Amino acid sequence: MNSRPIRHENIRTDAAALCEIGNRFVGNPGEAEARDYIKQRFRDVGLAHVREETFEVATYRARTARCELIGVASGSALACVGLQFTGSGDVESEAVDLGVLREPSDLDRAIRRCGGLAGRIAILQCPYPYLFTERLVAEGAVAVVDVSEARDGHICHLNAMMYPALAANPNGTRLPIPGVTVERGDAERLVEHVRVSSRRVRVVHDARYEIVTTANVVGELASVDGTGERAVIGGHYDSQLEGVGASDNASGIASLIEVADVLASTRLHRNLVFAAFADEEGGFRGSTHYCRLHRDTLDSTVGMVNLDAPGWAPSQRSLHADASIRALAVETARQVNWSPDEEMDASLFPGSDHNPFIDAGVPSCFFWRHPPTHPYYHTGGDTLDLLDFRVVADTATVSCAMIERLGTDRNLGLGRSRPSKRWLDLRPDGQR
Ligand SMILES: [Zn+2]
Repeated sequence: MNSRPIRHENIRTDAAALCEIGNRFVGNPGEAEARDYIKQRFRDVGLAHVREETFEVATYRARTARCELIGVASGSALACVGLQFTGSGDVESEAVDLGVLREPSDLDRAIRRCGGLAGRIAILQCPYPYLFTERLVAEGAVAVVDVSEARDGHICHLNAMMYPALAANPNGTRLPIPGVTVERGDAERLVEHVRVSSRRVRVVHDARYEIVTTANVVGELASVDGTGERAVIGGHYDSQLEGVGASDNASGIASLIEVADVLASTRLHRNLVFAAFADEEGGFRGSTHYCRLHRDTLDSTVGMVNLDAPGWAPSQRSLHADASIRALAVETARQVNWSPDEEMDASLFPGSDHNPFIDAGVPSCFFWRHPPTHPYYHTGGDTLDLLDFRVVADTATVSCAMIERLGTDRNLGLGRSRPSKRWLDLRPDGQR
């Protein structure tokens, strides 16, 4: 490696410019403005074939979200936002508190403990409610209330449906029951009410799902010897519904631009594709679109590196990779003094834009910061001043080393990804 080091000042400048644009939720004006900015920056740093790859998605437009305690004299309305990709409805029923859920076995235990969900409103606490919602419906729950884990009055914007359901059917998938996410302090009142009081709760949710046109922004660095093989590095440029998404994921896109700049004059053995994905927050729909559009090239795509929320400083170094690329990711990371504090098989958890690539056969890895989750995850509190750009640069450095390795090492021998659990099948017919 003889490229210059990653500079945290450069990442900060691009992240600040993206935050300056404002909210980048899919279909919002800021999202289109961010695309123009990224295209310009991709060209500035020397990427070739810079282009938009457009597609259509249904985006969430909230109309009403209410959660009320029934049988309480005053102050019965709780601060809440709509739980995205739930249905519209107005439900009053007994509610049951399922507690903190992190994996399916937690839900099994909670259901046994409460004696069943039929006809009841399910209260749960999890930043990934989409892992549980279909099961709640199957168990007969009539509405879902998620407890936001964000601090200081902020409320997380979360999804009830996610990859692969939304990616597979982007314009038609909804949970058949209504849902809301309740502010953490108000949720304590809710849980107390359900434990000792009337237990009856009213949940109202109304939203429409508007079809909008969005696009991935893609640019490339060409190999010197034209092998026809490539590797992809990408991250999402959209934000959730509120705020500027500094951590998630202006800092990841700014890192992507810096990596492109660092590698622009590297002698490559494979083409490198730099992708700013649209609409990760609505179910990795930009990265899924990339895999569908480029399915003819996936067999010659040797690997993928994802950049998402790289800089929440108090968190640990976390490596998510599928089994085919894990050893190479660990070895490459050690060369830049980046040892993971925790590791996870990325094919077991639908977490970000690397998952469609893993499901499509491409060995993929994601160098991340977690746990803990950012305290203002998916809220208006995710602002630039909370980020430590030395930590962002640390994650960008290991991601850069990995994509450089994928672009230059002649003898990778990774084969294809080994999804322990394949959610979305993008393989051509006949390869099953
Ligand atoms: Zn993100």
